[in-house]
Amino acid sequence: MDTITIFDTTLRDGEQAPGASLNQKEKLDIAYQLEKLGVDVIEAGFPVSSPGDFESVQRIAQEIRRPVICALARATPGDIDTAYQATKPAGRARIHVFLATSKIHMKYKLKKAEDEILRLAVKAVKHARNICDDIEFSPEDASRTEKEFLYRVVEAVIKAGAKTVNIPDTVGYSEPEEFGNLIRCLRENVPNINNAVISVHCHNDLGLAVANSLSALKNGARQVECTVNGIGERAGNASMEELVMGLKVRKDTFGLATSIKTREIYKTSRLVSALTGFAVAPNKAVVGLNAFRHESGIHQDGVLKKRATYEIIHAEDVGFKVESLVLGKHSGRHAFRERLKKLGYKLNESEVKEVFEKFKLLADKKKQVFDDDLAALVLENIEGKVPETWKLDTFMITSGSHIVPTAKITLMVKEKTFADCSSGDGPVDACYKTIEKMTNVRCRLLDYSIRSVTKGEDALGEVNVRLRTKGREISGRASSTDIIEASIKAYLQVVNKIEFLKK
Ligand SMILES: [Zn+2]
Repeated sequence: MDTITIFDTTLRDGEQAPGASLNQKEKLDIAYQLEKLGVDVIEAGFPVSSPGDFESVQRIAQEIRRPVICALARATPGDIDTAYQATKPAGRARIHVFLATSKIHMKYKLKKAEDEILRLAVKAVKHARNICDDIEFSPEDASRTEKEFLYRVVEAVIKAGAKTVNIPDTVGYSEPEEFGNLIRCLRENVPNINNAVISVHCHNDLGLAVANSLSALKNGARQVECTVNGIGERAGNASMEELVMGLKVRKDTFGLATSIKTREIYKTSRLVSALTGFAVAPNKAVVGLNAFRHESGIHQDGVLKKRATYEIIHAEDVGFKVESLVLGKHSGRHAFRERLKKLGYKLNESEVKEVFEKFKLLADKKKQVFDDDLAALVLENIEGKVPETWKLDTFMITSGSHIVPTAKITLMVKEKTFADCSSGDGPVDACYKTIEKMTNVRCRLLDYSIRSVTKGEDALGEVNVRLRTKGREISGRASSTDIIEASIKAYLQVVNKIEFLKK
């Protein structure tokens, strides 16, 4: 199986996306992650464009060791020399020279004739090759270039020393069959084509960047230029994660491999999104939040019976850690019961039925039902059924200036009384420590709040507590005119729920 070279241009073309400017530190962070991800080439920037860009490329060339570090240059000695200076510290450096070859670009942008363009391209590649071993050349707007002229340019730059010839669909105009054909034609019509690697660089103006790239690979291209999350000029570039997973999932048809560690994909995507400020659409292929979520009841039931019924990519293969089953109003009883089991609730059939009915009501109001909502439903359902295993009998606290707060509590279990005491940071803490000691139920207090329910001197204080035990959050509530008593009772309610759930 042939291995494709993954040329990542997130830091060059991706960073060109309007509004995506990254600072030096951010670029370096992304470069480190790209190295971890396993990309073969990092196009780190366009050094002549600004001193900041030069420094970023240089910094990346100094620090990132494994991938080839590439810099972009127009076909002029000044650009090429600057690109060389910036990439010099790299273990392996590449200079990427580009020059437009389409009629429209030559006539209106460059105001030069074919022969002049050909001469400039060759001169630039020769110059670059004199200072750097690894040269890539791009005939810009190649997909709209006259074929015969493109063959001549490609042949000439390979002869001049280019090791990679990149065929860009600069404006995202091509379609898969046409673009694949172009690559095949180059292989058939350029005599020295085997002395270079054919690369492609597709833009997504018609949403075809990935399709065009894959078609090119099928026709003999062996390097693909892409960006994380598909960011880039205008509608962006071919998305790295879609290309890689396309090749992986459909290796039966492509027969091509990459050296990407797919489990790093999700992390990379989120890093790039966070640093560029470009959110990933929920329905984005491979890395969108919903990419691995099934909501339809029929789909959920299918996935639970056999994953492959509705899943072609496993979320964990791209490093995605998400509950793939979101419960919503379309969810069926099967998915619901499985989720409860996963959360650690063992309910009997009639209890499942009761909670399921409440869940359906909630799902009508709320689009997505999360684990916390489910836990609340289960607990609400058992609320009335939780027996008061531990009951408060009496309590006494001492607290004040220069005194360590201490609580003495008597609890009743099945008509027997037990007493103990403990000190704490405050009277409530002292009470909770005492109860923990007596009941041996260990949990962490996440939240404690107190509010007055009524007005006036005899106002009732209501205490709400939320505690965590063994990965589960449970809350309790009690009220009393004595806030310490309310605090103890709220806590005991949680303890009793935990005891009940244990059974
Ligand atoms: Zn581009």
